Amino acid sequence: MTFAAISTAIGESGIGIVRMSGDSSFEITRRIFKGSIPDDYNRKMLYGKIIDGNEEIDEVLVCFMEGPKTYTTEDMVEIFSHGGIVAVRRVFETVLKYGARIAEPGEFTKTAFLGGRIDLSQAEAVQDLISAKTDKSFKASLSQLEGKLSAEIKKISDIILEMLANIEATIDYPEEDLQAMNINELIERLNIAINMLETLISSETVGKILRDGITTVILGKPNVGKSSLMNAILGENRSIVTDIPGTTRDTIEELISIDGIPVKLVDTAGIRETKDEVEKIGVDRAKGIINEADLLIGMFDITKNFDKEDKEILSLLQEKKSIALLNKIDLKTDYDSNIMKEFEDIPIIKTSMKEEIGLDELSKNIKEMFFSGKLELDQSLIITNLRHKDLLNKAYNELLNVKNDFENNIPVDFLQVDLRAAWSYLAEITGDAVSEDIINKIFSDFCLGK
Ligand code: GDP
Repeated sequence: MTFAAISTAIGESGIGIVRMSGDSSFEITRRIFKGSIPDDYNRKMLYGKIIDGNEEIDEVLVCFMEGPKTYTTEDMVEIFSHGGIVAVRRVFETVLKYGARIAEPGEFTKTAFLGGRIDLSQAEAVQDLISAKTDKSFKASLSQLEGKLSAEIKKISDIILEMLANIEATIDYPEEDLQAMNINELIERLNIAINMLETLISSETVGKILRDGITTVILGKPNVGKSSLMNAILGENRSIVTDIPGTTRDTIEELISIDGIPVKLVDTAGIRETKDEVEKIGVDRAKGIINEADLLIGMFDITKNFDKEDKEILSLLQEKKSIALLNKIDLKTDYDSNIMKEFEDIPIIKTSMKEEIGLDELSKNIKEMFFSGKLELDQSLIITNLRHKDLLNKAYNELLNVKNDFENNIPVDFLQVDLRAAWSYLAEITGDAVSEDIINKIFSDFCLGK
């Protein structure tokens, strides 16, 4: 079975790549390739033309790659044609005409998995790499692709297996007085495994942020400078990655990158336009959005009195991770310093959107809020995948059950079930024990051509 796909993004581009994998990929290519093929053709770029009988399709470079040392572990061919929709499509259609079938989404990576070249968490990392929005999320996926998650999980699985083996030995040969681990040793191992899982699970918060961005909502009365802030931040960060259409009619969302950390800025712009006086600051309507926020930025205009509406905003800030901006410091102020006390622990930054004062401090604060503490971004392994998080949690809970049983002096043979369950949840992450359904589901999320 030989399958093929256009592996480059559709659209205008210099070149396009058609990729083929399977037993007949060499034969198909030989039939449509006009150019010389030397004896040592493996992994060489060969110049020539793709032809369909007498018709010339495109001028190309072709690369034959002999399995099993290929991405899929099968024989593979990549044809580099001219870019643009027409040229690549014509080459692709020719390949299909001569016997390849269209690849299913993710089939190249699935074949690599089934061929045993990569495990499931690595395969999923391929998908995350393709959709990574910033440098840091790219790195997190890359370390997963390199097998770091699998290696960590294997360590935990090995501890569990070792415990299981010991427990089974004591059950099977009770009179032998085997030098198996005693209860204390078992508990010690168990705690190590639990701690390792805890670290992985807690990294998911960072993982979520890398994947989706820090959802940041800007709050403030009309005219305090919210739009100016949005513009200033957007202007400073040239690396705007995507525009996300607002999830609700009233908000504008922009994904920006602050030093490689994705920040999803939500401007409650539409809310501000409400006519109703009571709803003017849109507190009620903003609440839904606030619930989903990871960070609130409250803005206050220091040229105005700190009034009831400002107070309401302040009380919203107190419920979440927040930063307060006292804006318009370029203008005259008679802000009462007593008001500052009401902000309690909320960091206050004095800003001027007009003179672009305080923006660096804002970025610094955001970074410190989310990335302080034990997680060193570049070194540690970060869970970015929800399926993994769910399975890690399940394994973790099973181990907590075991711990509980130990503490209640439950006979060790009862612990086997939970230990086995924990082990199999972990095995599902690496794909050592997954059903075909799950595999198909995971790979169907892939882009074509991967
Ligand atoms: P929003 O209604 O909260 O989005 O506020 P805008 O960003 O539209 O700003 C309202 C007005 O205040 C505009 O005329 C801005 O130019 C002005 N403004 C915003 N920030 C500053 C600042 O730091 N200093 C001064 N002098 N004016 C500002």
